[in-house]
Amino acid sequence: MLTRFAPSPTGDLHLGHAYSAVLAHHAARAAGGKCRIRIDDIDGSRSREEFVAASLADLAWLGIDWDGDPVRQSDRLGDYAAALENLRARGLVYPCFCTRADIAASLSAPHGPSGATYPGTCRGLSAATRERRMAAEPHCWRLDMARALADNGDLQWEEAGQGLRSADPLAHGDIVLARKDAPASYHLASTLDDADMGVTHVIRGADLIASTDVHRLLQALLGLPTPVYRHHALVCGADGKRLAKRDAAASLASLRAAGVDGRALAADLAADRLPAGYSLQNA
Ligand code: GLU
Repeated sequence: MLTRFAPSPTGDLHLGHAYSAVLAHHAARAAGGKCRIRIDDIDGSRSREEFVAASLADLAWLGIDWDGDPVRQSDRLGDYAAALENLRARGLVYPCFCTRADIAASLSAPHGPSGATYPGTCRGLSAATRERRMAAEPHCWRLDMARALADNGDLQWEEAGQGLRSADPLAHGDIVLARKDAPASYHLASTLDDADMGVTHVIRGADLIASTDVHRLLQALLGLPTPVYRHHALVCGADGKRLAKRDAAASLASLRAAGVDGRALAADLAADRLPAGYSLQNA
């Protein structure tokens, strides 16, 4: 078994991250397997080096050790570009020049799991128009979902302890695989990295279960193996809402400063025991 914990260095880790990291680490160690760390720092405008260092220090405080060096998404941009080129050569992605305002103005129903789906404005542009506009305008790359699904109609993954689950990528519409301001989207980078790192079990929060619809499709398109997934319950605060990076009191830095024993906290989290005032809830 090989698991991973993949923080984005855009803020302090909190109890929810600790729970996810502990579950991934614990599952690997209990099976005699490996646990790796990946720094999801592809968003250059929001990622900060100080949060990388702080996240690694927080994990060490929890007693979480990891195998190999941390993988950094910012070191893997060439792999993302190659995968995008593969999809482009097969006519499965297209450049999109729409601004957020364009999309909002032209949207009607339907709505995908993460909000409204893209209305397809740039899908049918001619090759000549694409070339001309690409030379002059910022653009992202979108997956042509209908084409991508033509040979991939029946996709499933194994959800640990629950059996097979059907993926529903169609509901997401023509998702972005490479952004105007970043060389790959979370979906593309994360799917490629999990495969490249040899991850056999992806253990992450239930808030990401809809993303797995898309990741499963990308695996099929790119010939990558499908790991087992476990989407765990989310840590919520006293208000019943899931923790966010702005919830300073739940940050691991503040718990550490308050004298909490990190290893004892990790043992509690591994047994689904949370500090007073926090609870686990399914998304
Ligand atoms: N960097 C992502 C996050 O912090 C990780 C998502 C994943 O585990 O796939 O939400």
